Amino acid sequence: MRDEGRKVDALIVGTGPAAAACAKRLTDAGYETVALERKELPRRKPCSGILSPRGHRFLIENFGPLPKEILHSPSSACGVKFHFPSMRTVSMEFDGGPTPHLNRKFADHWAMKQSGAEIHDRTEFIGLEDKGTHVEVSTRKEERIVRYRARFVIGADGPGLAVARAVYPDYAARLPWFVVGQKFHRIIDCPLDDKYFHFWFHPELGHYTWSHARDGRQIVGVGFLKGGNFDNRHKRVVEYLERKHHVRLGPAEEPEAVTANFGPSLINRYIFGRGNVLITGQAAGFFNMIAEGMSCALHSGAIAGEAAVEAFRSSKDAQRTYRGMIASEVRRCSDQWNPLQIAFGRPHEADFRGAMKKLTPGERLGILREMFSFIRLYSPLNWGRQILWQSLRRLLTGRYPATRWL
Ligand SMILES: Cc1cc2nc3c(=O)[nH]c(=O)nc-3n(C[C@H](O)[C@H](O)[C@H](O)COP(=O)(O)OP(=O)(O)OC[C@H]3O[C@@H](n4cnc5c(N)ncnc54)[C@H](O)[C@@H]3O)c2cc1C
Repeated sequence: MRDEGRKVDALIVGTGPAAAACAKRLTDAGYETVALERKELPRRKPCSGILSPRGHRFLIENFGPLPKEILHSPSSACGVKFHFPSMRTVSMEFDGGPTPHLNRKFADHWAMKQSGAEIHDRTEFIGLEDKGTHVEVSTRKEERIVRYRARFVIGADGPGLAVARAVYPDYAARLPWFVVGQKFHRIIDCPLDDKYFHFWFHPELGHYTWSHARDGRQIVGVGFLKGGNFDNRHKRVVEYLERKHHVRLGPAEEPEAVTANFGPSLINRYIFGRGNVLITGQAAGFFNMIAEGMSCALHSGAIAGEAAVEAFRSSKDAQRTYRGMIASEVRRCSDQWNPLQIAFGRPHEADFRGAMKKLTPGERLGILREMFSFIRLYSPLNWGRQILWQSLRRLLTGRYPATRWL
């Protein structure tokens, strides 16, 4: 007879912020929840660790005061500085003051343990079958196949997209993929203010280029379309920082790079699952501006958990409930990329318009021109028209159309 495996109410794939938030909602409501992690915990996670104010509030409200062991040094960031090819700079403080600089290896594990869910690490999700009344899941643990049977499965597995691929096998092939990588350098001399996250709107450097201080070293990061060469791109940024900002760094250590599904939130092409399988966090496409993905992972994860709880209690269709509830987080996240919201609203948790007002009209115009020429870097992806059309729909109807979601 086939082993049906461990029976649980909810099975979450992943142990990042989306998983922890989802687990918290389910365990608070009394549902037996297991979270799977393919790596051994605590696991390393390539991330700058800069958290938005909304993410910070979520962690405190849901998981309690942050222990100092889960923070890097400097232990907080007070805001973001944008740099432009003309060497103009726009400096913004986060709303409500500095936010913690999270060490993802320990912060994610702490939040996950605080959630109260049972955690099975070194257990890789490999497939599922939705039977209508429940979902059968196969995993691999130390070369053995281990099965589970859950009422709901929540894919919070980040850019790996294993759960999304299981429900929509051709989905990942349709996405443009980016490489996002960072290297750590000994600092010889670094005039960049270590209290800020620094981001370059420079089309010749890459799609994202950033730098900031961590634990006595300097991170230099670069994001570009898959197919480019990480070492060359990174070297170009280091040389630029030395030439233009007089940043002198020792040789690069510990390179870390991942491929990322950046893009769905810009063009409102999220993926939320099918039947009893809900997809959330970065796997669903949530990514805020400047690659800030933790706050929307936390909030979308919590909403996935709430939708599952609602479906348990009322026998409502979980997928429909989730799609209704997630619309608010879609609005928050996609607004960050919406040019009309940026120009006339206040979608970010740092005062960009306030910072611009401190500049002369000539400087403001120059910066807008530089931003525009940076955005042209994305034109081969054909996103411009889609962003504009989605922005108009948002203006006219107050929401982003759910018909574009998978
Ligand atoms: C270089 C870099 C810098 C970044 N900097 C920032 C920043 O400063 N601030 C910020 O907010 N965001 C940042 N981000 C983005 C942020 O890290 C993500 O958006 C966020 O972690 C998404 O959370 P999540 O819970 O959805 O997924 P993740 O945090 O990716 O968690 C998914 C988990 O699922 C596990 N998993 C994957 N596949 C399987 C499987 N088959 N079986 C079992 N487990 C599986 C993974 O090991 C992982 O633990 C950065 C990203 C990169 C790459």
